Amino acid sequence: VAKGPKSPPLYICHVAVEMAPIAKVGGLGDVVTALSRAVQEHGHHAEIILPRYDFLLASPLLQGTTFETEMDWGGCKNFVTTCIVEGVRVFFIEPSNGMFKVGSVYSTPSEDEGKFEFFCKSALEFLLQTGRQPDIIHCHDWSSATTARAYWQDYHHYGLWKPKVVFTIHNLEFGAGAIGDAAMNAQKFTTVSPSYAGEVGGHPSVNPHIGKFSGIINGIDTDIWDPMDDQFLPIPYCSENTVEGKEAARNALRDRLGLRKDRDCPVIGVVSRLTSQKGIHLIKHAAYRTIDRGGQFVLLGSAPDPKIQADFNDLAHQLGGDMGAFFYAYDEPLSHLIYAGCDMILVPSMFEPCGLTQMIAMRYGAVPVVRQTGGLRDTVFDVDHDRERAAWEIHGSDDYTKEGMDGTNGFSFEGTDEGSLDYALNRAIDCWYNDREFFHKLQSRVMTQDWSWNKPSLDYIELYYSAIKG
Ligand code: ADP
Repeated sequence: VAKGPKSPPLYICHVAVEMAPIAKVGGLGDVVTALSRAVQEHGHHAEIILPRYDFLLASPLLQGTTFETEMDWGGCKNFVTTCIVEGVRVFFIEPSNGMFKVGSVYSTPSEDEGKFEFFCKSALEFLLQTGRQPDIIHCHDWSSATTARAYWQDYHHYGLWKPKVVFTIHNLEFGAGAIGDAAMNAQKFTTVSPSYAGEVGGHPSVNPHIGKFSGIINGIDTDIWDPMDDQFLPIPYCSENTVEGKEAARNALRDRLGLRKDRDCPVIGVVSRLTSQKGIHLIKHAAYRTIDRGGQFVLLGSAPDPKIQADFNDLAHQLGGDMGAFFYAYDEPLSHLIYAGCDMILVPSMFEPCGLTQMIAMRYGAVPVVRQTGGLRDTVFDVDHDRERAAWEIHGSDDYTKEGMDGTNGFSFEGTDEGSLDYALNRAIDCWYNDREFFHKLQSRVMTQDWSWNKPSLDYIELYYSAIKG
């Protein structure tokens, strides 16, 4: 049921090269879909323009696709088809030059540059030729950065007059030059957490435009991540029966991975891409430390770099067995069971624009153990050190001593070395061994915290209105 906007409803059009679940590579694809859905729940209208990749043909979600229009542009015919995906109207642009006859969203950087530039401009052409006038064109990362400049240069004075441009940086590691250009041409630009906004504020692509820059945390999709309704778990559970639900999941996880079941010990998990961003030296160290301390360690991840993967294969040889399980694949069903079955989830990233893993972990009552950086800092509050900050951020209260105002939800550390990680991991493990009652309460508490799109979508809507006001 639409909640009804306070001001006139907005028409937001995303120009993006990813969208979950049909063309998802990373968090960008999740944000485009979930944010569109969430703003629609508040009574606004969202549309997404996406390239018509060849691989989409196989998707059952695109069964209802219909023809929308065709346009002569860019030296070829461009066909536009449309359907509703996850409740959102999507337009697919397919140039007859075969540019998007590809098996995956991204290929080589030089190829991607050309084809995404073409896509960005063809999206504007589509809006112009069909007489659409969105209030906001929302672009994402370097791949749709061209839209911002092309709009103001070639479209704004030629019929597509109404939109303002909002640009979101999901990761500044890629295409910083293009991002700087888009930032210059956007009325507002954002990144995916307030702390990451602070961390990249000095970057030459960002700094000149800092006055219109802010951070809004991502949410998680609470329909997909729902321990009360999750086909991959043995029994449904919530904050009322966390211990029972997690115990059933822990046993299922141990069965699945061949971990022994006769030990009363903490189970610590990692679900991650294995790249330097994610703190691979700390993940390896944590595997040794956990098993040293009598715990069980579960790793689900894969490394695009064969050298890093070889290193992790060694780790599996050393530690794999009935106390350590190493699963090198992308396996979403298994990830659900890991979040549910683990007592703690470790996220020791070197940098993290937002991070979803820690929020999913909390939704499943797994206590996050994280490095304090970017979005991890904005969502995880250390039980020993962040009580004041947690009371404020979670409950809006400046008195953390009041009943029910404890919003702390995890363990964190600052440095990038093994000693720093140990500081947080050891406290978490000690807490599990020495004060089980406290640990269980903590697990129930993290499950009640709201990491959905409820709040972030309202922040985006406010931002959209402020972009329109100028
Ligand atoms: P990033 O986008 O940088 O990879 P995030 O924390 O924002 O990091 O999102 C990671 C998402 O990918 C989470 O939903 C996590 O569960 C999922 N994920 C990562 N690795 C795997 C894997 N090997 N198998 C299944 N899911 C994975």
